[in-house]
Amino acid sequence: MQTWTPAQLRRFLNHVRDDWLYAAWLLSARTGMRRGEVLGIRGPLQQRIARALGEIGFALPGNITQRMMRCGKRTCRCKHDPPQLHGPYIQWTRTVEGKTVTKLLTAEQLERYQPWFDNAHQLRALATDLETLSIDTIIKSEGWGR
Ligand SMILES: [Zn+2]
Repeated sequence: MQTWTPAQLRRFLNHVRDDWLYAAWLLSARTGMRRGEVLGIRGPLQQRIARALGEIGFALPGNITQRMMRCGKRTCRCKHDPPQLHGPYIQWTRTVEGKTVTKLLTAEQLERYQPWFDNAHQLRALATDLETLSIDTIIKSEGWGR
């Protein structure tokens, strides 16, 4: 088996500098891992995340809160002692262009759209997993962990 001289290796790495697999080439050059082994880094976990991302349906951002409220009427039961508050009201709160937007949902609407809120949580968790995996990969590829 023939190996490259350091000069040949440098020339090769310079050649693939803009390749999207550059980190993988570099890792291979640094560790002597074979191409298949290096590509395995993108392997099972990354593929699982990608597959799960591809299966997510509609996703609603924001938070759901349920609260009891007082109205504006001065003589209402909600002003008695003890107060009998109105509700519960189901509020869907999200941020749109830096402003908080709130919509009231009925219990039936919440039940219907709950999977979409769950999907948004799943989406954020998967994005975090993918970022964590990517960070681990760049640390390994660049040899920063050593
Ligand atoms: Zn009231």
